[in-house]
Amino acid sequence: MSAGPAPLLGDPVTRLGGVGPRRAADLARLGAATVADLLTIWPRRHRDRSRVTPISQLAAGGVYHVMGTVRDVRVQPHFGSDVTAHVYLRDGSAELDVLFFHARYLARMLPAGSRLWLSGRVDRRGPRLVMVHPEWERVDESAPSRGIVPIYPLSGELSQRWMRSLMERVVPAYAPQVADPMPSAVRAAWSLPSRAWALQHLHFPDSAEDAERARTRLVLDEALVLTVGVQWLRQRAVGGVSGIPLQPDGPLARRFVAGLPFQLTPAQSRAWAEVAADLEKGAPMARLLQGDVGAGKTILAVLACLAAVDAGQQAAFMAPTELLASQHADVLEEWLSPLGVSVGLLAGSEALRGDTRAQLEAGAIDVAVGTQALVQERTQFHRLALVVVDEQHRFGVRQRSELASKGTYPHLLVMTATPIPRSLALTVYGDLELSRMLGRPPGRQPVATRRAARAERREVYQEVLAAVRRGEQAFVVCPFVDPSESSDAKSAVQVYEGMRTVAGWRVGLLHGRLPAAAKADAMQAFRRRELDVLVATTIVEVGVDVPNATVMVIEDADRFGLAELHQLRGRVGRGRQAGRCILVADPAGEDGEARLNALVECQDGFELAERDLEIRGPGEVLGLRQHGVPGFGLTRPTEDLGRLQAAQRMARQLLDQDPDLQHRDHAALRASVLAALGEALPSTVLH
Ligand code: ADP
Ligand code: MG
Repeated sequence: MSAGPAPLLGDPVTRLGGVGPRRAADLARLGAATVADLLTIWPRRHRDRSRVTPISQLAAGGVYHVMGTVRDVRVQPHFGSDVTAHVYLRDGSAELDVLFFHARYLARMLPAGSRLWLSGRVDRRGPRLVMVHPEWERVDESAPSRGIVPIYPLSGELSQRWMRSLMERVVPAYAPQVADPMPSAVRAAWSLPSRAWALQHLHFPDSAEDAERARTRLVLDEALVLTVGVQWLRQRAVGGVSGIPLQPDGPLARRFVAGLPFQLTPAQSRAWAEVAADLEKGAPMARLLQGDVGAGKTILAVLACLAAVDAGQQAAFMAPTELLASQHADVLEEWLSPLGVSVGLLAGSEALRGDTRAQLEAGAIDVAVGTQALVQERTQFHRLALVVVDEQHRFGVRQRSELASKGTYPHLLVMTATPIPRSLALTVYGDLELSRMLGRPPGRQPVATRRAARAERREVYQEVLAAVRRGEQAFVVCPFVDPSESSDAKSAVQVYEGMRTVAGWRVGLLHGRLPAAAKADAMQAFRRRELDVLVATTIVEVGVDVPNATVMVIEDADRFGLAELHQLRGRVGRGRQAGRCILVADPAGEDGEARLNALVECQDGFELAERDLEIRGPGEVLGLRQHGVPGFGLTRPTEDLGRLQAAQRMARQLLDQDPDLQHRDHAALRASVLAALGEALPSTVLH
């Protein structure tokens, strides 16, 4: 440690000896800015010598930890510049083949004779068992080491060894200083260890049982803080806070429905009845609308906006990206300006923003469309009565609580195509009522989905060209923006350049790194049919609606998650014509195979998303960490269901006795909830 007084928990990590600006930046990417944050960089797993399985006892399909010595490494070039490293590992009982793709560097890092610890899934390839892309670490036999060692997530230039030695200094010194949010009475009643003990033993357990006991305690902390916060948020709806009653069946809404070229489906009508009943009331609505991709959620959002305008109020319509916001603005403008309702876009260039903002403040805009900046910045609405949020999973608890802090309590309608498992829904979305819209509008066929090998790309593009000649449009989606990001997988720039030179079609390019104006231009040109093919990244994943697009080619489809692929293919076949989706990939492992096959077989978004949650975990799928569910880094809702329920019981008991947590023994919990959700909770709690 550096000279001078020892750093405090809240100090930046750079106050610690050996942590300079470069490493601080790497740590920041892992979510740690302060010394206290380091304590919650959770180990991804532990290397436990007592849990190593002899190679001779491995069986296909299982996940194992293995330790052994490298006999040989061979590098095999294929697919052009692609390289596969074959590592042959022996442990005295047998030999295991280990495969790493795109791994020219590995040959140098793993000379014969190195000792390795590996963790991964074992598959069968012909007669031999292989581990593909396991987690791995060199084991230094000469260094003294404990039996059970944490494996941390890394970023930038951080090494496992460096992280571990940092944590060995930080955890024992600082864990005892951390406040314990769990009231002592609860801790005693449930026989739980202290948070300090749990932190120490989650990082550096003496046994697997220790680690589990520590994890239980820390998961309960996460869930308890979140459950209390969400229950407090709920008070806004039930605690007599008043909202503004809207007019769900007013003249504008009726004219809008009459002008639609279709009837509302029964599912839409049912969901709308639930929403409308809430909007009429004085208490602010807080409702989550779930419906598969293409279920027709936007219409309901528009009806809700009209209910606000009919009541003389303003509505805000929030999308997760600028691109989607500008598309929604276009669509709303098209639908609403004939009714004399003014729509304004608050995203994009600053100039436009200033202007629109002034109109908004003056009340000249009825429906403002934008990104989260709509509620986060000092955007002032003249009389905001409704907030619609498209794609809920990116709008977390914290953002919901920020809404409440605007002083008024607007009605809140959040929409998502991602199904949320019950266990998680109660904890994370317990403040929201739920409406589900099953099925899709009539006449919509499933998106015929098939797989193609990379060697068949030529035929695939012939098919695209044929569709274009019939006047249809196509998306080509790539996993990367430009070729420098991957020597192996397709990039949008590369595919775009390749297609541009082919006569017969008009091709556009769309990816996240383009300036906002260029993105909007490309999207608009595609919508106006000035382009036949749009080559894009997953930026088109969420909500983009171009009814004339019928074909989607997804390059290197095994690089995407299941729910992501389903969202992507939901972009085609949204008009009268059936959609087709072609997944181009030569997947490396069984996982990739399974995911692509599931997509070919299954059209049900809920079912697919549930499989995806199992494969990748909810943190990743729902974007919990990045998108405002604070400190939910350790909990795994499927397997921690029992713990989530326990935390719900604890929260209920505590809040029954002491609704605002005013008791001294509850002060630390109260502080944790406020720190996690900001001071943006109902005033009943804060004063
Ligand atoms: P999502 O639920 O994925 O947001 P959208 O609201 O974008 O779906 O709707 C998908 C498409 O279905 C849009 O082109 C929309 O105009 C159309 N649509 C919505 N409701 C109906 C309906 N009742 N009948 C026919 N088409 C509909
Ligand atoms: Mg949508």
